[in-house]
Amino acid sequence: MKRIDNHLPTADLQRLDAAHHLHPFTNGAELAEKGARVITRADGVMLTDSEGVEILDGMAGLWCVNLGYGRKELAEVAAAQMAQLPYYNTFFQTTHPPVVALSARIAELAPGNLNHVFFAGSGSEANDTNIRLVRHYWALKGKPEKKTVISRKNAYHGSSMGSGSLGGMAGMHAQGGMPIPDITHIDQPYWYGEGGDMDPAEFGLARARALEAEIDRIGEDKVAAFIAEPIQGAGAVIIPPETYWPEIQRICDERDILLIADEVICGFGRTGNWFGSQTLGIRPDIMTIAKGLSSGYQPIGGSVLSDEVAEVISSDEFAHGYTYSGHPVACAVALENLRLLEEEKVIEHVRDTAAPYLAQKWREIGDHPMVGEARIIGMMGALEMSPDKANRAPFKAEKGTVGLRCRERCFANGLVMRHVGDTMIISPPLIMTPADIDLLFERVVKSLDETLAGLKSDGLWA
Ligand SMILES: *Cc1c(COP(=O)(O)O)cnc(C)c1O
Repeated sequence: MKRIDNHLPTADLQRLDAAHHLHPFTNGAELAEKGARVITRADGVMLTDSEGVEILDGMAGLWCVNLGYGRKELAEVAAAQMAQLPYYNTFFQTTHPPVVALSARIAELAPGNLNHVFFAGSGSEANDTNIRLVRHYWALKGKPEKKTVISRKNAYHGSSMGSGSLGGMAGMHAQGGMPIPDITHIDQPYWYGEGGDMDPAEFGLARARALEAEIDRIGEDKVAAFIAEPIQGAGAVIIPPETYWPEIQRICDERDILLIADEVICGFGRTGNWFGSQTLGIRPDIMTIAKGLSSGYQPIGGSVLSDEVAEVISSDEFAHGYTYSGHPVACAVALENLRLLEEEKVIEHVRDTAAPYLAQKWREIGDHPMVGEARIIGMMGALEMSPDKANRAPFKAEKGTVGLRCRERCFANGLVMRHVGDTMIISPPLIMTPADIDLLFERVVKSLDETLAGLKSDGLWA
């Protein structure tokens, strides 16, 4: 295959980038001063930048490159599909083989009676679909007033008007008129940050029962659905107490509302099962999927519906769809990705090898003086940094200062790790070997050590 290996010198790329490219979730003025980091290639779990420096990708891109980089099979399938049928739509009663095969495969993999897929180009689009879909579902059942969607503070469901409104990110809501009407947010099951003196089990129940209280406040006859990530990702890998999900499930079973599990991160092996719902014992009516569905090799997302929801929606024309719903190249690549995940037993690898080893290393990191809590599930984890473990106390410096410093140390040490406030998070490719995990561990510890030394020398420690 043709290799794209010539590019401008780094400084020129940075200059043109700053002049013409607006980046998502980035302060443009700051970026122009520093210059963007330019990534030019990647293989396995390693990125290479424009200066030839190798960086271990502790985030699998944006939580999506589950299979790792450089898989020729995916490139070949994309090329073959482009040559045969680069595009056709799925509107107005047409279809094509890749979208048929992918839909059937997802139906096989998805738990319970989740057997029907409505495709989108991303997780955001899929969640926008979900808003209209659940409202239309109730309207078709003669209950058009059942339209409020309950979500959670600090949830992440995407960045479009609808999905950003479903999300509970205060910083996002502050810009551009979100949330849209008829979306409300309850408190999140974030024990470390908000649990106070409660024990985790008690706190998990209390936060789940906030859903019941919210349904009562709004009126069950006005609530369409509850949406939640099985484990909050962008919120900082928040693993709810074990009491949380069973109680949420009980409430959703007892009340006449739909449960949407946003599996965009948790899906496709991240937690050691095909879906996070399986790991956490959730029985959703709808799942949102994207990211790991194609390991990020193509933009694709979707909503997976139960038989019952699909039957109601199919009884009428759903006046909704995207030009790229079920894009043939994206579907072909996703299907090949699912084949490789299965044939290479990647999910078993996570469950039996990678996740247990990563968990062991994470427990060791938990003893580091910078770390207040080290939590992990499958291949996603967080380190809460704190100057005072016993009290789960924050730093005196403005929130995010220490996190940003640590992220900078990680980069300098050849590791991509993200920070949410002063919490460091990872979500590496699922194919990490124990040797990769050793390297990750080494770089995390070195970065924490250096961050701590910096805090001490700058008088910011304790
Ligand atoms: C990333 C993400 C989304 C949005 O997906 P995009 O493809 O970025 O639009 C939705 N939900 C969750 C849980 C996510 O992590």
